[in-house]
Amino acid sequence: MTSSPHQVVLIGSGIMSTTLGVLLKRLDPTLKITMFEVADEISPEASNGWNNAGTGHAGICELSYTPHPEPDGTVNVTKAIDIFQEFESSLQFWAQSVRDGILGDTTSFINPVPHISFVRTAEQVAYLKARHEGLAAHHFFAPMEFSTDPAKIGEWAPLLTEERTDEPIAATKMDGGSDVNFGNISRQLAAWLDQQDGCRVLTGHRVVDLQRKADGKRWTVTATRRFDGESYDFDADFTFVGAGGGSLLLLQKAKLPEAWGLGGFPIGGEWLVCDNPDVVSRHQAKVYGQALGAAPTMAVPHLDTRVLDGKTSLLFGPYAAWTTKYLHRHGSFLDLPRTIKPHNIATLLKIGASNLDLIGYLVQQGTQSMADRMSVLREFYPGAHPEDWRLIDAGIRVQAIKQTDGEAGIVHYGTEVLTSADRTVSALLGASPGASTSVHIITEVIEKSFPHLLEGDEGTRNMRKCVPTYRHDLKRANGASLFRELGRSARDALGLAFD
Ligand SMILES: Cc1cc2nc3c(=O)[nH]c(=O)nc-3n(C[C@H](O)[C@H](O)[C@H](O)COP(=O)(O)OP(=O)(O)OC[C@H]3O[C@@H](n4cnc5c(N)ncnc54)[C@H](O)[C@@H]3O)c2cc1C
Repeated sequence: MTSSPHQVVLIGSGIMSTTLGVLLKRLDPTLKITMFEVADEISPEASNGWNNAGTGHAGICELSYTPHPEPDGTVNVTKAIDIFQEFESSLQFWAQSVRDGILGDTTSFINPVPHISFVRTAEQVAYLKARHEGLAAHHFFAPMEFSTDPAKIGEWAPLLTEERTDEPIAATKMDGGSDVNFGNISRQLAAWLDQQDGCRVLTGHRVVDLQRKADGKRWTVTATRRFDGESYDFDADFTFVGAGGGSLLLLQKAKLPEAWGLGGFPIGGEWLVCDNPDVVSRHQAKVYGQALGAAPTMAVPHLDTRVLDGKTSLLFGPYAAWTTKYLHRHGSFLDLPRTIKPHNIATLLKIGASNLDLIGYLVQQGTQSMADRMSVLREFYPGAHPEDWRLIDAGIRVQAIKQTDGEAGIVHYGTEVLTSADRTVSALLGASPGASTSVHIITEVIEKSFPHLLEGDEGTRNMRKCVPTYRHDLKRANGASLFRELGRSARDALGLAFD
């Protein structure tokens, strides 16, 4: 980029775009920022309450971040430590935003909910014990408890042990977990942005095209107002494609060489939800287990307390569902066919052939009856009754498929930032761990496309006014005391448990 970008366009109003908008405006108050959202409200897609599980992914309970034991019986916990540190950046940003009056009542967007991992069978019990030994040795996870005693596990989460036949079980528990309403965070961040000089948030506007201008540096963003079909062109020095599932369609329009060969594989989700107060009051935890069969890691089942708009319910799932839509609310069943191009068809076919297990799993999930779904739930909650549970749609994840994935190709489950060579366009691909690590991901976007804002000591100081832990490596042994100081302060501001 030859000159500093001044006119910024953000496509989408989910957690990613709104986080980027607020951070950029705070780092450079002269920026002019326009956000477009196709829906009439802010953040109705993946970041919206029931469309995700609201787990503040910190590596505490998710077994997918800690693979099976090494030959010596130990468990590698590096990934869980990394995820904890990434989530810490989000907590720090939200806490600072509360102190600065950008975010309001903390219970509207984050609530303390213990995180529990739960396993069955002797082999899994041994694995969880080794995982606990690895994690509890690190200062992030020191308060984590482990038990194989059904009475103790029943104290932590009664539904797990009620009516369970005698079998080896084990669990770990940490009180410092959270349930997050990412939709409400997005809405509050967008409201703040909309009030700033030179910034506006336009709902009901679908971005339909993204073309490089003749000068080769700037972009023309074309948006259509939904209520009257009127189209407008906007100039942008920098465009962030934070359109969630809609990002691939826009990247293909922009004809970025970096997006050449990319394809998208949508996976829908469904939850079972329980509102029966007798059941809800007996479970205050997010309980994660192991992936079942060919289920992808994102479909690892969990039994969760959810606190949305002041109401507490239980959620179980996700059950995967086959779909060709890329967006839940404003998508079309033609989304997948529309993104199949001569440059990505070979990759998509290879992916199909090498992921037959996954495709079989999606077909099987899509044809499940309520009785099938209840039998999966009963692995966690043996006494579950079908009349207490209803099925709802969750959001859609569009997994990015890349040409560079090798001969066979693989479905990606991580989140990646794609930035054009001249750094004037950035987009997010993939969906996991997603919203929890939004601040870590968005920091990467800023470092790539606005490096001058973060340069040197001044850049670090400015960013620490928004994210106090920026450029502090809290995971190293000598980061423990700073983590205790800043970590406790953030949790105090957010009403969360520290230890
Ligand atoms: C079933 C499921 C469970 C999940 N559970 C968790 C969890 O427990 N914890 C966690 O941290 N993450 C979770 N995630 C991931 C998380 O939800 C996403 O990573 C995150 O919400 C993505 O945010 P985003 O801003 O990129 O996208 P979104 O929130 O989808 O926002 C994109 C926005 O762009 C808009 N848009 C799209 N196209 C256009 C266009 N052309 N013009 C204008 N606007 C457009 C959309 O309407 C939408 O509002 C889950 C996801 C799913 C699907």
